[in-house]
Amino acid sequence: MSSNNNNLTTSWGAPVGDNQNSMTAGSRGPTLLQDVHLLEKLAHFNRERVPERVVHAKGAGAHGYFEVTQDLSKYTKANFLSEVGRRTPMFIRFSTVAGELGSSDTVRDPRGFAVKFYTEEGNYDLVGNNTPVFFIRDAIKFPDFIHTQKRHPQTHLKNPNAVWDFWSLSPESLHQVTILMSDRGIPATLRHMHGFGSHTFKWVNAEGAAVWVKYHFKTEQGVKNLDVELAAKLAGENPDYHTEDLFNAIDKGDFPAWRLHVQIMPVEDANTYRFDPFDVTKVWSQKDYPLIEVGRMVLDRNPENYFAEVEQATFSPGSFVPGIEASPDKMLQGRLFAYGDAHRHRVGANHNSLPINRPKADVKNYQRDGAMTHGNNGGGSVYYEPNSYGGPAESAQNKPAPFEVSGLADSSAYDHNDHYTQPGDLYRLLSEEERTRLVRNIVGAMAPVERDEIKIRQIGHFYKADPEFGQRIAEGLGLPAPSNP
Ligand code: NDP
Repeated sequence: MSSNNNNLTTSWGAPVGDNQNSMTAGSRGPTLLQDVHLLEKLAHFNRERVPERVVHAKGAGAHGYFEVTQDLSKYTKANFLSEVGRRTPMFIRFSTVAGELGSSDTVRDPRGFAVKFYTEEGNYDLVGNNTPVFFIRDAIKFPDFIHTQKRHPQTHLKNPNAVWDFWSLSPESLHQVTILMSDRGIPATLRHMHGFGSHTFKWVNAEGAAVWVKYHFKTEQGVKNLDVELAAKLAGENPDYHTEDLFNAIDKGDFPAWRLHVQIMPVEDANTYRFDPFDVTKVWSQKDYPLIEVGRMVLDRNPENYFAEVEQATFSPGSFVPGIEASPDKMLQGRLFAYGDAHRHRVGANHNSLPINRPKADVKNYQRDGAMTHGNNGGGSVYYEPNSYGGPAESAQNKPAPFEVSGLADSSAYDHNDHYTQPGDLYRLLSEEERTRLVRNIVGAMAPVERDEIKIRQIGHFYKADPEFGQRIAEGLGLPAPSNP
């Protein structure tokens, strides 16, 4: 039932008589409690915000499609990757990590790169960053790490002391710190950066054979970064610079695109590769496992409503489809829990039934009720399993591929502790100008650290990556270069 007038209504659909003046007892009397339109309007306004994400709060999103350019069904049975030319609708949310909802876009920070593919077999979420690695490799360190990126509990100020104290005591962070402090730490726009799945995942084909896989989205716009002075100026003048750029580009039909590539590792290589392939602080050398193109992602539609789509979008690295599974990466294992949990807290138990998150595939299960239940909630259909009423049932061919485990249940550390070769390789592949800017950025970021002990410990890590790298930072900070780090 819809009316063809344009009357303003309450949320219960009744026409509103006056939306400019509250109802008062006489023209100068107090406002009446019986002005229920006023009560509802104020009460709803008080509830306009859902809790902001603890991390990745500031974001921008867009709709688009993914098109397969190379059939890799010999590696995965994932239906959306199965045929050249197959298109799958998707939604992406880019974000900064540490800042709050209203914080500036042009800060030095990794960028979230979260993609939701609405496949015919359910939603597949690839929840990555614009960097191929991460600061830590075990989820048990994540709350501590993020505390160092947030505000001091007393001053409510950002705290370089905490940042570098944690990093210097967690040398596995060195690779990501080096990338973050390089030119790529402040992208020119969200369109001019790559995206990475970062973790290792497992692909399984129709015969049940598995390979390990890493994802790389390569920007077709080319990598461009912001000059630090310009970034600082923009942070003050236009804190929404990246959000605005993405919206305007799509609005005028200049659709950004990325080529999705994968690296494929045979399962048995994981036991002998020179780095632990499940350690998210490491990359797999592209000389060992070259990039293989899979498809193209194009962003061609802006959200119609920021809150409904971008803010309420819920991504989880645990939203897999048949043919794509988890790896033993300990950071991924923790995220499999943490993301779904964050969304149940932030948006609610039924977050997957909101339009932006609702799969295009039919959802048939026995979940019922909960806050904000949409639709008919299954009506009177059978609401338990197993049952004799023809309700939806499991399909054994969609079980994850079985895999072997061994060893003692223990809180064991990663075996591989070379935190230095890969950041050193990165330093060595930079041009002299890029190295100069990298050193300048690090010196600028470390200068406010109160304790020399922290600075010296961190310089030792840079030195181990490459002696020249460590010496230049020590020099910039006016501290002795380590002779025997
Ligand atoms: P390769 O020479 O085969 O690859 C180097 C990679 O570095 C390319 O992906 C290149 O891709 C990327 N790159 C180039 N300049 C920069 C930069 N300023 N900041 C970040 N990335 C850059 O060597 P390897 O695969 O053996 O890797 C060597 C080092 O490159 C690694 O230690 C790692 O630090 C870095 N790297 C490696 C990646 C990988 O997946 N192997 C991915 C990204 C970085 P492009 O210029 O298109 O971005």
